[in-house]
Amino acid sequence: MKTVNTAKEVRTRVERWRCHGRTIGFVPTMGALHEGHISLIQAARRACDRVVVSIFVNPKQFIPNEDFGNYPRDIKRDSRIAAAEKVDLLFAPSVDEMYPEGFDTRVRVSDRLTETLCGLSRPNHFSGVAVIVAKLLILVHPHKAYFGQKDFQQTLIVQQLARDLNLDCEIEVQPTVREADGLAKSSRNGYLSEEERRAAPIVYQALKLAEGILQVGERNPRDMIEAVNKRLRSESLIEIEYVAVKNANTLEDLNVLTGRVLTAVAVRLGRTRLIDNIIVEVPSGS
Ligand code: AMP
Repeated sequence: MKTVNTAKEVRTRVERWRCHGRTIGFVPTMGALHEGHISLIQAARRACDRVVVSIFVNPKQFIPNEDFGNYPRDIKRDSRIAAAEKVDLLFAPSVDEMYPEGFDTRVRVSDRLTETLCGLSRPNHFSGVAVIVAKLLILVHPHKAYFGQKDFQQTLIVQQLARDLNLDCEIEVQPTVREADGLAKSSRNGYLSEEERRAAPIVYQALKLAEGILQVGERNPRDMIEAVNKRLRSESLIEIEYVAVKNANTLEDLNVLTGRVLTAVAVRLGRTRLIDNIIVEVPSGS
């Protein structure tokens, strides 16, 4: 596995592969690699001739007072994991490489997708995501790029971005990888104290409750949201940021729970923010 740190190097190597007719799969990450990232790498490995992974803790997607300074960084460990997964190229640029002095472009994707759910409590987060994903997809120019369902709102925003800017790349979404007790794997889980870690699976339990409620025929969004809130409130360490039920294709509110129903949750456990979601297909008229 080759590691490069500059935009020029990554572009040159990938262009060479393209000239030789190789297909390129790309997995953008912020590092601290875990099984969630590895599942994306493996999906890319299965579908593409060459796999590129980026590691970049993107300052523009952190809002003030978030954990940008403390975010876990261990490039040696990440390199070992990526090499073991047969990644061909690791791109690990510096902040100055991605945002040199004078950088002054913003990318604003659909308000319908960004001004809801996590966008409400993290202003400018998604424009930070959009600008880095746009830059990376232009530089790496992959045939396919892989994202996790755990960050479901992000996947819709990236799909819109890739379509609108003709980025010439298929956006592939992979299922959320979980711990045995249901907690979604996340680089931020390491922030949890032992007590918080014991409380954390309530998030997935509340989502599974939503799934169960839909399956037994609940069609009223308000009652569903109340049931999920109630389950979360049964764990005293949890502070709820939002519980939302949306159309999973558009992120619009639903009057009746039918079609692709997204139930999304954001909570705080101490200083750690956790998000998770579940999508249930509810046939109309059922
Ligand atoms: P991050 O490094 O947290 O920015 O995540 C990089 C990519 O990995 C994003 O597309 C995430 O959605 C994805 N990802 C993070 N956690 C998981 C998980 N538990 N399962 C699947 N994908 C994940």
